[in-house]
Amino acid sequence: MKPDAQPKASHFINGEYVEDPAGEEMPVVYPATGERIAMVRAATPALIERALAAARAAQPGWAALSGTERGRILRRAADIIRARNRDLSVLETLDTGKPLQETLVADATSGADALEYFGGLAGALTGEHIPLGGGNWAYTIREPLGVCVGIGAWNYPTQIACWKSAPALAVGNTMVFKPSETTPLSALKLAEILTEAGLPPGVFNVVQGAGAVGAPLVTDSRVAKVSLTGSVPTGRKVYAAAAAGMKHVTMELGGKSPLLIFDDADLESAVSGAILGNFYSSGQVCSNGTRVFVQKGIKEAFLARLTERLGQAVMGDPLDEATNFGPMVSEGQMNIVLNYIAKGLEEGARLVTGGKRAERPGFFVEPTVFADVRDDMVIAREEIFGPVMCVLDFETEDEAMARANDTEFGLAAGVFTRDLQRAHRVVAGFEAGTCFINSYNDAPVEVPFGGTKASGVGRENAKAAIEHYSQLKSVFVRMDALEAPF
Ligand code: NDP
Repeated sequence: MKPDAQPKASHFINGEYVEDPAGEEMPVVYPATGERIAMVRAATPALIERALAAARAAQPGWAALSGTERGRILRRAADIIRARNRDLSVLETLDTGKPLQETLVADATSGADALEYFGGLAGALTGEHIPLGGGNWAYTIREPLGVCVGIGAWNYPTQIACWKSAPALAVGNTMVFKPSETTPLSALKLAEILTEAGLPPGVFNVVQGAGAVGAPLVTDSRVAKVSLTGSVPTGRKVYAAAAAGMKHVTMELGGKSPLLIFDDADLESAVSGAILGNFYSSGQVCSNGTRVFVQKGIKEAFLARLTERLGQAVMGDPLDEATNFGPMVSEGQMNIVLNYIAKGLEEGARLVTGGKRAERPGFFVEPTVFADVRDDMVIAREEIFGPVMCVLDFETEDEAMARANDTEFGLAAGVFTRDLQRAHRVVAGFEAGTCFINSYNDAPVEVPFGGTKASGVGRENAKAAIEHYSQLKSVFVRMDALEAPF
């Protein structure tokens, strides 16, 4: 028997749960079994209007509080999240299929980190004083943008909702958040917890639905900013729609990131990096290092140790804390991944391990490694978003760098080497927003996260996120007499 995942109602608007009986039904499925565990309804236009009106009405009052007062509420919410981490993690596991072993440490907790970090920062967000000649001076005021829209992907539903709302709210914006239709549950819990922590009604609202609900949010004239986490094709559409209204955007999109492993790397750490960068969350992580370039001298040892360690992966019921490898989020995503595996075989890549749907209920795909992958293969060019690692050989650093950067994406990149100078040289040459030396996929809230090229615009986390949720007003102050030509 699964714990009850059914929310009180589908949406959260103006400080309370709201149902929209006219909305289309959206079943919520537990990916480990395919069972339906909850049902929510998509928002109709009337409900979208209610959410936007609530966010608009609440914004001036929220912005009028001091940063310290706003921050206190966010930090209180962080404490509540930590106190309820287990329940929230179970819900995230039911919604996404990710192992409880992961969700206990990487989802609600990272959301709490964001609320705590930006809550702490809120009181320190100020403009600056600029002295000018003649005793004149200017100052800047850091202002919120207004109503922000957040649109989330399904892989880290709690984290994405917190990464967007925490900096937005800290500065004095309000938000309407639309989770992915695949994972609608945890954003509602966040809204409930923020309200319990003292957030005024209307400051954070959640509406459910697919792209058809996201699209009118993006174009509404009351909305000043759109922050999307999703795929590059969706990003292109949403960015274009937001540009028509000259809105601010943050685009956290997909990738096909390179991971370079040099002959001198610590083998065990390099294998760990490749595992973390390809199989955590069953490979459903945007910054994954899915093109693993391995220098020829270490290649066979790397593949042997990798295969050995993948044999220790525990695939099973994600609610069992011993499980460390879960299913794909949905049947649709599983089929996308299986099609890519078939394509890899057809293109002549060498299957080292995995390659099939697992023989068990739910949407499990075996951890899969292809070797002898060429740069022009589809599996080396397109984001698969599943547990499929492509291993490519290289001989020289220059060659590896050119090939690593030969992609439209630029989200992340990593290097494993014991040569300090090479590590920094390689990272300096990477065309990517988030880089790792002898590590992979760390995402602490203190560090800016985001992509270059087609992988995105703007940064989440750290002080950098504040720039993307606020604007500066410059005020010139004349102290001496003002002259004019006539
Ligand atoms: P999608 O791009 O399919 O969807 C992202 C969100 O946008 C969903 O909520 C979706 O709604 C919504 N949406 C779709 N069309 C529109 C539209 N026209 N207007 C407004 N909103 C719309 O991504 P997935 O949910 O499939 O997530 C996987 C992708 O997310 C991967 O490509 C991955 O790389 C990327 N990602 C990027 C991260 C980063 O930080 N860079 C982090 C995590 C994931 P719905 O799906 O409900 O229809």
